Amino acid sequence: MKVDILTLFPEMVEGVLAESIIGRAQKNGIISIRCTNIRDFSTDKHRRVDDYPYGGGSGMVMQPEPIYNAYRSICGEAGKKPFVVYMSPQGKVLSQQLAKDLSQKRHILILCGHYEGVDERIIEEIVDMEVSIGDYVLTGGEIPAIVLCDAVCRLVPGVLSSEEAFSEESHYNGLLEYPQYTRPPEFMGRTVPEVLLSGHHANITRWRHEQSLKRTQEKRPDLLDKKE
Ligand code: SAM
Repeated sequence: MKVDILTLFPEMVEGVLAESIIGRAQKNGIISIRCTNIRDFSTDKHRRVDDYPYGGGSGMVMQPEPIYNAYRSICGEAGKKPFVVYMSPQGKVLSQQLAKDLSQKRHILILCGHYEGVDERIIEEIVDMEVSIGDYVLTGGEIPAIVLCDAVCRLVPGVLSSEEAFSEESHYNGLLEYPQYTRPPEFMGRTVPEVLLSGHHANITRWRHEQSLKRTQEKRPDLLDKKE
């Protein structure tokens, strides 16, 4: 999978995604993530990319031409139009299911807005889907792009060590994950549940499923209402 990120602050995004599991997957060639600075595609002599909003009002709006030029350059290189996602508080709220759907795409382009956002015509012209990371407003699309990229890329086959790693995780099947324990067997007087030390795989599976249901009921009963 290939991910292109259009941003005014590439360093913000590159640093985070170069670390840990997503960084390792890039080094192993399983995924490729590239940030492009929209400012490099400005035709203004001062490399300007924003202007005042028509009709007045506070803040600045990102102009359509530099974004479109960057998009055209990426399309030209790829030889095909990528699936374009605009990070926006007005978009579809990110969920595990949406991350799963996006992980099936071969090439995604993520557009990060800043200031008051982007000129509406660029959304009409190139954007396939607007995605929000929640009902609140951040200063820019870079943190949302990192969140989306991480959630999607870890579902690409080969990024995690085995499919098990995410198929039992919270939200994959509409439930929260069971509690996890590691060494030592006793900490501050609290012991690890006996069944996990028993080596009896069928009992461990049953216990984990029961715990999964129990904690979903306790912490997120709304998820159980949605699940058949
Ligand atoms: N004026 C816009 C509005 O009211 O809908 C908000 C613009 S916001 C200050 C600047 C940029 O941050 C947006 O263009 C978007 O890319 C990003 N952003 C802010 N909150 C977001 C969220 N919850 N999810 C995804 N992107 C977000």
